Amino acid sequence: MKPKWIGSGWKMNLTMAQARHFAESLHDYYADESPSTQVFIVPPFPYLLTVGELLQGTPVRLAAQNMHWEDSGAFTGEVSPVMLKDCGVRIVELGHAERRTLFGETDQIINRKVLATLKHGMRPLICVGESRDDKQCDVGVETLSRQLKIALMGVSEERVSQVMIAYEPVWAIGVGGEPADPAYCGSLHTEIRNVLAGLFGAAHAGEIPILYGGSVDLTNAGSYLQQDQVDGLFVGRAARKVEDFIKLIEMANTLSSAEV
Ligand code: PEP
Repeated sequence: MKPKWIGSGWKMNLTMAQARHFAESLHDYYADESPSTQVFIVPPFPYLLTVGELLQGTPVRLAAQNMHWEDSGAFTGEVSPVMLKDCGVRIVELGHAERRTLFGETDQIINRKVLATLKHGMRPLICVGESRDDKQCDVGVETLSRQLKIALMGVSEERVSQVMIAYEPVWAIGVGGEPADPAYCGSLHTEIRNVLAGLFGAAHAGEIPILYGGSVDLTNAGSYLQQDQVDGLFVGRAARKVEDFIKLIEMANTLSSAEV
């Protein structure tokens, strides 16, 4: 089995002291362990540099929660790919449902950001997911397909292996979200893989990690990780305490090594 991915998305949470504690604890963890699981954390912008420095020498990848597509300019309040790269960011989360619904990000805006992320040698983690209405009306796959096709417009074959996808059904994420049934999640991952294969061919599509996110916790994580189609987990609330995040990493390690 390929090593799984585990990511912790902090959103607008944690103090600087808590961010430091998180990174220092991960650093200590990696002093004794060299697990196979591919790990990333997504702190808010002001913590990136500090957290990145504290994680030096570990395999943990630093990720950002958003980005503007231009390198620089008169865009007050925005952060550019050049700045993120300078801070050691390797993955940029794009198109989270909250960005789409609360901040008006369209598929076209996300596409510009995806292209800029790749141009600067970072990996876009593109969040896609159907709404509860989409699911009820049985048009979830159409929504995912539209989001993917527009986000990935203009991505070249050379760069497509750098793309990462987070499948995050809107009805599953955050407070009040309801975790997706693991089998349903597996089948939607297959649908996503099929869309990617239609765009880039099966071989390239197979290189793109597809992670699940939405009310994952320590009790249900194993059931998602056991799905072959699920390449990893992107976790919000349940991975904001470093002890729990490490438990998730260890769960993924055990699974990979048990099945190698
Ligand atoms: C998210 O909002 O991206 C997310 C995965 O949140 P949670 O795990 O808290 O549902």
